[in-house]
Amino acid sequence: MAKVIDSKIPAGPVPEKWKEYKAHQRLVNPKNKLKLDVIVVGTGLAGASAAASLGEMGFNVINLCIQDSPRRAHSIAAQGGINAAKNYQNDGDSVYRLFYDTVKGGDYRAREANVYRLAEVSNNIIDQCVAQGVPFAREYGGMLANRSFGGAQVSRTFYAKGQTGQQLLLGAYSSLSAQVQAKKVKLYTRYEMEDVVIVDGRARGIIAKDLCTGKLVRFSANAVVIATGGYGNTYFLSTNAMGCNCTAAVQCYRKGAYFANPSYVQIHPTCIPVHGDKQSKLTLMSESLRNDGRIWVPKKIEDAKALQAGTKQGWEIPEEDRDYYLERRYPAFGNLVPRDVASRAAKERCDKGFGVNNTGLAVFLDFSESINRLGLDIIMQRYGNLFEMYEEITDVFPGDLANEINGVKYYKPMMIYPAIHYTMGGIWVDYELQTSIPGLFAIGECNFSDHGANRLGASALMQGLADGYFVLPYTIQNYLADQAVWPKVSTDLPEFAEAEKKVDAEMDRLLNIKGKRSVDSIHKELGHIMWEYVGMGRTAEGLKTGLKKMHELEKEFDENLFVPGTKEGLNIELDKAIHLRDFFTMGQLVAFDALSRNESCGGHFREEYQTEEGEAKRDDENYFYVGCWEYKGKGNEPELIKEPLEYEAIKVQTRNYKN
Ligand SMILES: Cc1cc2nc3c(=O)[nH]c(=O)nc-3n(C[C@H](O)[C@H](O)[C@H](O)COP(=O)(O)OP(=O)(O)OC[C@H]3O[C@@H](n4cnc5c(N)ncnc54)[C@H](O)[C@@H]3O)c2cc1C
Repeated sequence: MAKVIDSKIPAGPVPEKWKEYKAHQRLVNPKNKLKLDVIVVGTGLAGASAAASLGEMGFNVINLCIQDSPRRAHSIAAQGGINAAKNYQNDGDSVYRLFYDTVKGGDYRAREANVYRLAEVSNNIIDQCVAQGVPFAREYGGMLANRSFGGAQVSRTFYAKGQTGQQLLLGAYSSLSAQVQAKKVKLYTRYEMEDVVIVDGRARGIIAKDLCTGKLVRFSANAVVIATGGYGNTYFLSTNAMGCNCTAAVQCYRKGAYFANPSYVQIHPTCIPVHGDKQSKLTLMSESLRNDGRIWVPKKIEDAKALQAGTKQGWEIPEEDRDYYLERRYPAFGNLVPRDVASRAAKERCDKGFGVNNTGLAVFLDFSESINRLGLDIIMQRYGNLFEMYEEITDVFPGDLANEINGVKYYKPMMIYPAIHYTMGGIWVDYELQTSIPGLFAIGECNFSDHGANRLGASALMQGLADGYFVLPYTIQNYLADQAVWPKVSTDLPEFAEAEKKVDAEMDRLLNIKGKRSVDSIHKELGHIMWEYVGMGRTAEGLKTGLKKMHELEKEFDENLFVPGTKEGLNIELDKAIHLRDFFTMGQLVAFDALSRNESCGGHFREEYQTEEGEAKRDDENYFYVGCWEYKGKGNEPELIKEPLEYEAIKVQTRNYKN
């Protein structure tokens, strides 16, 4: 029988033992008395905004990132935009509507109260960013412009061309820099958190590695916040930056933080298809392209076969022989259905043999109709850098006129296919964004909080900045208020020494395996297992096979890994090996969760549970909960703990994007 937890339990009282510690004065650093220090790990949109806000509020912040500058955090990759319920288009948007769309988009598996708060603060985020100088796109008359993203019938996405993440991050970075200058934030770049230190049941610090010198460093604080991003790279090929990893989150999980809903992984429908086995990265073509691009495959199987053989081109197929399958299946939302729905529909067409490239694993994203209607200039204004990016990678420019049939002009279409993109699961947090370890908080993509089983486009930036600017800086004070009487602990405590010793021993272990396989070769194999058995379509049997294969490969990792160099100085291979160790734990966790959830919802699709039309079939009677997992040691099955979901404002129903 699974344990049941309550998301509203506040952190417990100060343990008796603290009084003892105080008596011995061994914790007291008189200089720091009554100053509250917070460690923020990560400088993506969530981390940078939180560190800047906490600094501004007067806390002493220690802020770390693995890149050489906060500006290079993975958030910079975000292209399409950020949602807010401003209703500038006067198309009927409201806080309630954004809240409703997000809960529905998440297939009714998000915590309702968190989503409402997110929708409420969404408008503040836009004001905050405009005040920082973020150059959002504007209409001719000066109003901020909007476009549409999947899962919504209103235009509520604010954007800065195809570089929204970069511009938002520059805004957050400027606030962060002001606090660095004011000496309220101390920034450590090229530092990686390797472990969290728990003293008397509370997070009191971290062990970090200086990635340039290889030295381990101890940091102590009154609270620790992780903002370290998602675990998409467990699948090896994903749209995430190469450096994205889940080491910090997995270490917190190993130390007792629950990991929630790991099986909710987002597969994005519009990525450039895999084009060979030497690839290490997949490229996203922003969802914003679905505003004007139409997705199709041929109606006739012989046309699909000719496309696959290379004897025909997309632009040779006339309008009447094209199957705009999203518009056909989902007339109300058309090409703007949510990502999980669009991805599954593409897979369904390709599985039936209608794929349009040589591997049969691609569909077209075509701008002919919108270029004919609006002209290439307007389309280039909207998506110019995305078209250029596509051309750079594939040598095809989607604005090139290629054919004219019966007076209709056809332009070269893009080819796209679904790929791993975002992870809705993450470290479990309560309403205050505190994990199950008191004093440890998780924000941004690394927590599980707001997206349920599927995230809507342009909602990750909204959540990351909501957490960083408007939620955590306030909720963390409920915890810190109680901490003000207790000084920051000394890094000489045995708990720090012990944690550091373990991290050091792990590095020795990995370096001393001295086997024959590189980190990447094993990671790639793990990725294949994940995609094949724990990917877009899952079955109980496949998941069990996947778990078995992961165990075998983990053994291979432990016995036959080769890491060159030493732990002194820069050793990127060693860092990658540490990340891969944690991707193994993560991959198994995703599979355990997927196996335990005998239903389909959002990004978690169990083939045994689908409707006759191939839609996800939920089981609200048995699975209307957040699945939290507690670590039980390497090789052991983790324990499932359930947080029941409670919906008061929204009626739980079957998702419908057809009418
Ligand atoms: C190609 C692409 C396009 C996207 N476009 C959009 C979009 O248009 N709209 C939208 O809403 N969302 C978009 N997303 C999703 C969105 O970008 C991310 O979910 C979001 O930026 C995550 O922000 P974050 O701050 O949580 O994490 P990240 O930006 O991933 O930052 C993580 C930070 O943690 C640090 N870190 C990680 N591990 C450690 C460690 N062990 N020790 C120290 N530091 C560590 C890193 O250095 C980094 O600073 C997109 C994602 C991708 C991949």
